[in-house]
Amino acid sequence: MAKSFYTFIVVPHASPRLRKLKLTARVLHVLAAVGLLCLFVAVGLGFSYIKMAFKAADYEKLQAENADLKIQKKNLEVATVKLGEKINNIESLFQQIQNLVEADSLKRGKVNIPGVGGSKIDYPTAELLGSANLKNGIDLLRDRTAEMENQLMLLQQVAEKKATIRRTTPTIWPVKGNLTSHYGNRADPFNGEGEIHLGVDIAALFGTQVRAPADGKIIYAQRKAAYGNLIIVDHGNGLTTRHGHLSRFAVSVGQRVRKNEVIGYVGTSGRSTAPHLHYEVRVNDRAVNPRDYLPRG
Ligand SMILES: [Zn+2]
Repeated sequence: MAKSFYTFIVVPHASPRLRKLKLTARVLHVLAAVGLLCLFVAVGLGFSYIKMAFKAADYEKLQAENADLKIQKKNLEVATVKLGEKINNIESLFQQIQNLVEADSLKRGKVNIPGVGGSKIDYPTAELLGSANLKNGIDLLRDRTAEMENQLMLLQQVAEKKATIRRTTPTIWPVKGNLTSHYGNRADPFNGEGEIHLGVDIAALFGTQVRAPADGKIIYAQRKAAYGNLIIVDHGNGLTTRHGHLSRFAVSVGQRVRKNEVIGYVGTSGRSTAPHLHYEVRVNDRAVNPRDYLPRG
């Protein structure tokens, strides 16, 4: 079988001579195959290059992000330290308030309020401020704020209880005037014999407003023998006040009254020589000296 040939004729413009290139079909096929292979390799390399270029762009982006994150972390560390300092200040203020509340309770004595405890966990400041581990630092701050929240809630309960006690404890004069008769032993104003005076007498003009010395409920408002027109206010916690010799009532039984609210008017009803208020304070129905519940002056 005759071999098939391909002849390529090259005609250079600058020269009259022709150049002939005679190739067998086999060689031509091999050349075509090599050419195709080269094309594939070139395309493959092209793709790789494009992929690399994308990766390089990603890398640069990541580097920029990383730098940004580093700055953010630093800012976060600074913010954490500042927050720690703020919490220190708040804890210190909180401690001062707690001390005030406790000192007030001690001074008053009568108020039975459980003390609010201090910090249960020891947090060394250096550890908090210099915390190398940001997460630990934040965890500690979170624990401290949670603990403060608990203690503030306790303190709120104490404050509310104290506010209630303050509202329901007689702290004002039911009428302004001179004390004409003190609590305890005295000479009977009618016959001069010794007797025990269970309250104080406060002189005031006939018709002067008598005010509730604390929040409470009217449990008695009617005429009663020597008391004349009498109002009894129940302030809770076993505490009651009596207001005698009134000319008129401004409230009725069952009514709730606020501290300083007008409950009646000064008179001279009952066993009385002149217009005045007979004022009693009773603890568990035992008369005590009202002077202890009247502000000075
Ligand atoms: Zn009296």
